[in-house]
Amino acid sequence: MTLRAIDNTGTEYTSYLVSDVIRKIELLCPSCKQKLVWVNSDVKVKHFRHLTTCQYNTEPESKEHIEMKKEIYELIKNNNNTQEIVYEKTVKNRIADIYLKDKAGQQIVVECQCTKITAKEMSQRTKDYNDNNIYVLWILNTKNFNAIDNLDTWSNKKLNKIVRVSNLEKELHKTYFGRVYYFDVIKKCLYGTHFETYSNYKSYEFYTPGGELVCGEYTKYYKTVKYFSLIILEHFNLFCTKNDYTGKLIARFADKKWW
Ligand SMILES: [Zn+2]
Repeated sequence: MTLRAIDNTGTEYTSYLVSDVIRKIELLCPSCKQKLVWVNSDVKVKHFRHLTTCQYNTEPESKEHIEMKKEIYELIKNNNNTQEIVYEKTVKNRIADIYLKDKAGQQIVVECQCTKITAKEMSQRTKDYNDNNIYVLWILNTKNFNAIDNLDTWSNKKLNKIVRVSNLEKELHKTYFGRVYYFDVIKKCLYGTHFETYSNYKSYEFYTPGGELVCGEYTKYYKTVKYFSLIILEHFNLFCTKNDYTGKLIARFADKKWW
């Protein structure tokens, strides 16, 4: 399932921007060059489907993922720093959800992540793109990540909630200089989030071998529980940078530090 098709002259088509007349054109997958058909769906975003198996695009695509890709693409496409943007670009053996070039000619891949993956897998995929001189932006779908499952009750910009974060979220937080990006498909809302160390006091008491009672307090720091703050992003310009600490080439939104 794809959002982009080409014909034999190389003209590109976006699945949800074409009409019924597209059925008269022979459409091909930009990656494997096999035939595609247009699916005018009411349930999912209108898309193209392979008639055969695609060696690049083997996974069936969820409604969540296809919608997320479309919404993010539309947000980024309209910012004033984008020179060129396409869906589903083949880079070596991977297909990037969204690929773009900024006005300076720097290449960026946006990964729209709807399923849980490990921090290691995220790092490997990032490295594969980095090896091709491509900067990477990861955006997580709110639906499948614990850290952000009940946004309605959260007040903006305040560190007044505690959440449990995964290793993936921690690694992204480090990589994006204290940010993790999430997208809510239903609200069509893009969030920047920040975590801070959560701790509380614990008391202790014990008897020494001599029978003396000792009591006190200590600070307990949590590894997976964090304070959490967020902003709703309204500007979608990206900029490219290197994180020297994790060694990754990243693209991130030009958001101002809000915490
Ligand atoms: Zn294909």
